[in-house]
Amino acid sequence: MIGDTHQEIEDLHWNLGLLQNLEVGLVVVDRDSYICMWNGFMENHSGISASKAVNQNLFSLYPELPVRWLKKKIEAVLLLSNTAYISWEQRPYLFPFKSHRPITGSAHYMYQNVTLSPLSSPTGQIDHIGILIYDVTDNAIAQQKLEAANKQLQSLSRTDGLTGLYNRAYWQECLEKEFDRFARMHETSSVIMFDIDHFKKVNDTYGHQAGDLVIKTIAQTLQQYVRKTDITGRYGGEEYGAILVGTSGENALIFAERIRAAVEATVMEYGEHSLSVTISLGVSQLTQEQDSALSWLEQADQALYKSKQNGRNRVTLFDTEV
Ligand code: GH3
Ligand code: MG
Ligand code: MG
Repeated sequence: MIGDTHQEIEDLHWNLGLLQNLEVGLVVVDRDSYICMWNGFMENHSGISASKAVNQNLFSLYPELPVRWLKKKIEAVLLLSNTAYISWEQRPYLFPFKSHRPITGSAHYMYQNVTLSPLSSPTGQIDHIGILIYDVTDNAIAQQKLEAANKQLQSLSRTDGLTGLYNRAYWQECLEKEFDRFARMHETSSVIMFDIDHFKKVNDTYGHQAGDLVIKTIAQTLQQYVRKTDITGRYGGEEYGAILVGTSGENALIFAERIRAAVEATVMEYGEHSLSVTISLGVSQLTQEQDSALSWLEQADQALYKSKQNGRNRVTLFDTEV
């Protein structure tokens, strides 16, 4: 009998020792949020010793905690006798502990997964809650890096290398989306296509590099003029597209004319040469008439062709009458 008790005390001692040295934070609180246990992990990371923490109210000891939110969680755990899990993705951390990772800049605090478990007394009553704090900083940082890399990759796969505009594939995807959006919302948009005039001459006279400079410069001009919501792309070698979201054909025409004039006025220095080019543009407004994004685009292309036919360096609005 006495031997059993001795064994029990020894077991308890070991268990407490294990909990104390766990690489996981362990806090036990009662129904009124008074702290009954505060293990070594909590001591190390909070700088508050167990002797100071125990018998204190958790929320007075840690006013930085999300009081209302956590109280609600604790109440639910007590009420339903269910464990609650909180991942760092929902809430990066519960206890504002400093991160000790040597990685600069990426994490200033320890990311935490938290579980709140109901603890039943020997009589089967749930009077306490065990809060486990897992340090998941390494995982969180790795995942964030992966997400950032994926984002960069996605952005690269959408971007034209020379100009920084969207590439043809992605720009066309945007055009389709805008077309579908119109079908639902009936808010019109316009598309502009344009092409550099006599561009072969630039390449032939000054070389391909000069040509590239011209292509790049015109992309910059375009980007200076568009609104944030507009979607610009390099459609082909020296062809560009711009989707003017929420813009009528008439207004798109005014905008296109501004771009035309800006390009005409731009002088590009290439070595000792001063280059300037003009562009021809076509505009088409989205209406009930087009049956696909492609036919919308083809209208802008037809208008562009008209601009070329009529002497280049001009803007044409697609006209259904013609
Ligand atoms: P037009 O006024 O009728 O448009 O005459 P154009 O000479 O501009 O004719 P077109 O639009 O057919 O010219 C396309 C030329 O653009 C042919 C090709 O050599 C050149 N080109 C296409 N992509 C690039 C590129 O990435 N860099 C350079 N430097 N040239 C390109
Ligand atoms: Mg062309
Ligand atoms: Mg051309």
